[in-house]
Amino acid sequence: MIRFNSAPLTGREAAYMQEAMANGKLCGDGPFTKKCSEWMKENFKVNQCFLTTSCTHALEMAAYLCDIQPGDEVIMPSYTFVSTADAFVLRGAKIVFVDIRPETMNIDERLIEDAITEKTKAIVVVHYAGVACAMDEIMAIAKKHALKVVEDAAQGVYAWYKGKALGTIGDFGCYSFHETKNYTMGEGGALLFDDMQYRERAEILREKGTDRSKFFRGQIDKYTWVDYGSSYLPSDLNAAYLYAQLEMAKEINDRRMAIYHYYDEHFENLEKEGAICRPFVPDYAVHNAHMYYLKLKDLDTRTAFIDYMKEKGVMAVFHYIPLHTSTAGKRFGRFHGEDVYTTRESERLVRLPMFYNLTDEQVQYVTEAVLSFQGF
Ligand SMILES: *Cc1c(COP(=O)(O)O)cnc(C)c1O
Repeated sequence: MIRFNSAPLTGREAAYMQEAMANGKLCGDGPFTKKCSEWMKENFKVNQCFLTTSCTHALEMAAYLCDIQPGDEVIMPSYTFVSTADAFVLRGAKIVFVDIRPETMNIDERLIEDAITEKTKAIVVVHYAGVACAMDEIMAIAKKHALKVVEDAAQGVYAWYKGKALGTIGDFGCYSFHETKNYTMGEGGALLFDDMQYRERAEILREKGTDRSKFFRGQIDKYTWVDYGSSYLPSDLNAAYLYAQLEMAKEINDRRMAIYHYYDEHFENLEKEGAICRPFVPDYAVHNAHMYYLKLKDLDTRTAFIDYMKEKGVMAVFHYIPLHTSTAGKRFGRFHGEDVYTTRESERLVRLPMFYNLTDEQVQYVTEAVLSFQGF
């Protein structure tokens, strides 16, 4: 069976974890946590980077820092992972979903302005598959209406919009280092932002509501409880695993891109014949091959395709039942405007195996299996 995903392994992870053990500092904010955040600050040109226990937690921190209050509205696409919405729902927000662009599966920036009300506080964009949303347009709308922009860049690490790293364009950026993402620490994430006015509050939130970070910097004698917060620090053991991957970020990215292009070239004819749609990347975006997907005719074709691939020993998967159709989505949100593409496109999409350690033989095998499917 060719798995759909497998956590990347580059070689130095075990040695770095041993080193973390020898450091005698397994808790948060140890040497490897610092190395990871410094690496991201330097490579992604951002002022602040806090490693967190997940992207979900980074989003929760962003929701606090946006000062979301009960009844506030937050605009986002419905075609996304649960956490994008849940992090804001936890602060009492009402979620306002708008439709996506079919070609990128990203929020349709042309529909955002119409969904804004007096209560709107923030726009949350999701860079699906590591392909950037139309950020200039979105930032302009946010500026005009004084809204915060949070980037769910869980899939967008080492991907770019007009030369800027995804996650560094809006007010807050959230990364995921879950094992299904391009770079991993098992479970983990990061919160990124530029504006230093948020730094102290972010530190407090992440350290159980205490000013412990200031204490460690020697700025105060004792640390105490100063605000609300939680425990959003990952263990330095996990950060050690991640650092081995960040050091190899380019190699990991190059390998994923090679797999992406192999698939993409071999499925070009299928698209020309009208059997499928391939992923589309706008000129303004440099993506990171987070995933390779095909869009088939409809739900029945996709079901038949997934069954066929399984028979061939290949795991092909789909994801995201649109949030506005889920039990919690109905309770905590509403869809503004018409769902023209969200449901229709989500039912057509299927993802192929894509991970760093996938071999050339496996990629060829998957490609041949796809090409031998007769039911398009
Ligand atoms: C994976 C993912 C998340 C959640 O990431 P965790 O690190 O598992 O919390 C959130 N949003 C999107 C778009 C994702 O793909």
